[in-house]
Amino acid sequence: MIRADRDRRDIMRNCDSQYGRMRSVNISRHSDLALRTLMLLAVGEDRGDRMTAAIIATSVNASASHVAKIVSRLVELDLIASRRGRGGGLAITDAGRAASVGALLRELEGPGEVIECEGDQPCPLARNCRLRHAFVEAREAFFATLDPLTVADVVRSPTRQVILSLDPAFSPTGGSE
Ligand code: SF4
Repeated sequence: MIRADRDRRDIMRNCDSQYGRMRSVNISRHSDLALRTLMLLAVGEDRGDRMTAAIIATSVNASASHVAKIVSRLVELDLIASRRGRGGGLAITDAGRAASVGALLRELEGPGEVIECEGDQPCPLARNCRLRHAFVEAREAFFATLDPLTVADVVRSPTRQVILSLDPAFSPTGGSE
């Protein structure tokens, strides 16, 4: 019993030392902006808005270069389409509307861990730690909760009304690149 307590204390001490490297199950700003971009496109297209990366960047209060990178990635994933030339712009695809939020986050966040157990100052338990395995399962459970939710689901009322209220940046005639 005493040994078990000591083992537990050792594990917690090791975890404490890694807190500075803790990522938690929070999603990155990059992924959040990707979701916001899809949400804006889903609503904007419904009312025939011409959408560009610059308009989206203004609407979500992010830099144009960051949104441009996100747009490229979403085009690569076939979730949005980019039409060039006069009257061109960005449009969400059918796959984009039907995209699962959980699946998209798994794709964008990659295989990372909740805590960085290895790296510059690796934890001595990293090779085989039950807690580490539990964190991996917890992270997957977080994504699994979001699996049934699609982009089309998350832009339903009342979110739709909020997005539509983002004028003037997010307007049928707004901005150009
Ligand atoms: S291996 Fe990772 S989860 Fe396990 S005790 Fe060390 S820092 Fe914590």
